[in-house]
Amino acid sequence: MPETTDRLPLRLLVAAPRGFCAGVDRAITIVERALEIYGRPVYVRHEIVHNKYVVDTLKEKGAVFVETVDDVPDGVPVVFSAHGVPKAVPHKAAERGLDYIDATCPLVSKVHRQAERQVDAGRHIIFIGHRGHPEVIGTFGQVPEGCMTLVETEADAEALQPAEPDNLAFLTQTTLSVDDTKAITDILQRRFPSIVGPRGEDICYATSNRQQAVKAIASSCDLVLVIGATNSSNSVRLVEVAEREGTPAKLVQRADDIDFTWLDGVGTLGLTAGASAPELLVRELVDKLSERFDVQEEVIESAKERMVFKLPRSLEAA
Ligand code: SF4
Repeated sequence: MPETTDRLPLRLLVAAPRGFCAGVDRAITIVERALEIYGRPVYVRHEIVHNKYVVDTLKEKGAVFVETVDDVPDGVPVVFSAHGVPKAVPHKAAERGLDYIDATCPLVSKVHRQAERQVDAGRHIIFIGHRGHPEVIGTFGQVPEGCMTLVETEADAEALQPAEPDNLAFLTQTTLSVDDTKAITDILQRRFPSIVGPRGEDICYATSNRQQAVKAIASSCDLVLVIGATNSSNSVRLVEVAEREGTPAKLVQRADDIDFTWLDGVGTLGLTAGASAPELLVRELVDKLSERFDVQEEVIESAKERMVFKLPRSLEAA
C-alpha cells in the first residue's frame, strides 16, 4: 500500500553550493582552536562571521564578542573577524601587548595587498563596495586616507570626477553581486580606459558560486528562501539574484522566522544559504517544512567546491 499523507506536496529545490565557504569555516576554526589553546575567554573583534547562530554557539564555548580592541582586557587573546580589519587595529593590539590572531579570509587579505600595490604604484583606487560594511572599512584602512574612493552604484561611477583620470585602479568587495559589479566596472572602463583592474575579479569564488546556484533554481520556483543574516552581504545578494530572475525571495535567519502564509500557493520552493550560514540551519528549515508539507527534496548542483584555507601558522604549530 502506498503511504498516504494529508500534507500538501511541496517540491523543494535546494541550491548547491550553499552555506559555509572556506573563509568562514577557517574563521570559526580559528576561534575554536584559540579557545583550546588559550582557554576561555577568547575575545573576538566584531562578529567572527555574520551569523547569529554561529556567534551564539561560540559565546557558549567561551568567546566574547566586542567591537573594538579597547574593549579587550589586558592579557587576553583577541581574534579579528573574517571580514578583515584596518591596519590600525593590529597595530593597536600589538602596542597593548595583546596576543592577536587574524581570521581575515585570505581572499580579503589578497584585496588588501592589491590595494597596497596600487597605492605604491601611485594610482588612486576606485573601490566598489557597500559603505559601512566591515570589509570595506578594513580595506580602506590598508592605505593612507585619500587614496581610495568608494563607488556603490552605477550612478556613482557615472558621477566620478577623479583628479587624475589616467591614473586609476579599481578593486571590489568580495561579496558583491557579480552582475551589478560588472555593470559598474563597464562604466569605469568606458569612462577611464586606462583604469587598471584585478586579474579576474575580487568577488570571491563562494559568492559567485552561490549566486550562480540560486540563479539555476530561481526561475523554476514560486518562492526562494535564503538562510542568512540581514547584515550578511553575500546572503542579501542571493535574495536580489533570485528576485532579478523574477521570483520572490525572503531572507530568514532560522526556521522559526518562516511565515507559512508565504507558502500559500507555492508548489515549488527554492532554498539556499549564505556563506556564513551552517548546513544545520538548512536541515532545521527542511524539518520545519516537513511538519506541514510532503516535501520532495532535490539538490540542484551548479558547481563543485574544494577550497580549503590553511590556519594561521601560529595555530597550526600549536
Ligand atoms: Fe572569504 Fe568569500 Fe567566504 Fe568572504 S564569502 S569569507 S571572501 S570565501
